[in-house]
Amino acid sequence: MNMDIYTVEEIAPGTFRLDECGRDNCYLLCGKTGALLIDCSLGAGDLPGTVRRLTKLPLTVAATHTHGDHAGGGHQFGTIHVPRAETHVSFRGQNLRVFRRQLLSNRMKRAGITKKNVRGSIRKTEWLPFDDGAVFDLGGRTVRAVSVPAHTVGSTVFLDERNKLAFLGDTACPVLPMHTYRALPLSAWEAQGDRLLALTDGYTLWCGHGDGRLNRALIRRQLCWVREILKARPTNEATHRILYYPTFDPAGCVGFDPANLYESDKRKGWMKETWNSILHG
Ligand SMILES: [Zn+2]
Repeated sequence: MNMDIYTVEEIAPGTFRLDECGRDNCYLLCGKTGALLIDCSLGAGDLPGTVRRLTKLPLTVAATHTHGDHAGGGHQFGTIHVPRAETHVSFRGQNLRVFRRQLLSNRMKRAGITKKNVRGSIRKTEWLPFDDGAVFDLGGRTVRAVSVPAHTVGSTVFLDERNKLAFLGDTACPVLPMHTYRALPLSAWEAQGDRLLALTDGYTLWCGHGDGRLNRALIRRQLCWVREILKARPTNEATHRILYYPTFDPAGCVGFDPANLYESDKRKGWMKETWNSILHG
């Protein structure tokens, strides 16, 4: 079985992009006394082994959000930190092996990675909640978690303020992923767009898919596209579909579901359930 599937790129001193066979990216940040792994991929390969070859420092793992291609590898580490708003059972459910196996990309399959590579159980993974503003101290290097509920309810941007590096997960990507499982309505992304741009002013951006590169000019363009979509479609449509605007382009477009443009009563019911479980256990 092919376990060594991660391609490593040093993107800044002591900072690595770990590319899971073109499927998704996680990022390893090394300080003087500790290291932080931001996201832990689908977990189709030996991610802890790849990390250990890069650093022997004590490791903390934190997820930008809990989609299976960002938190799914958590079982290889035992304990991971996740946004508090996504500790709900339905997000854990999405990390069951059966669902993670559905996330294998064609490129992974062509590289010989099969469902058997996606192992481990979410039931053995402890999710420790972190809150907006949480700071991860790596010794001479700190990373701050800022909640930006644009992609999912808990989606978080990690800021290395001294080195001006921002890690966005799926909060923004060249193909904006607003058509995925329990993504927020497109209008929620629009509501956070200007804040995301202000937050990342002066930063080099790294995202969860493609080659990781992203620039603020593209986010600005996506915000215009999202506003055009919402203007043309004033209500949610009846059927779920995946559409791309203005057209599918890996270099920049918006993926969306016309049934999930605006907050709906059905969605509000689920959100109420989520918040109740957070507040009342
Ligand atoms: Zn996602």
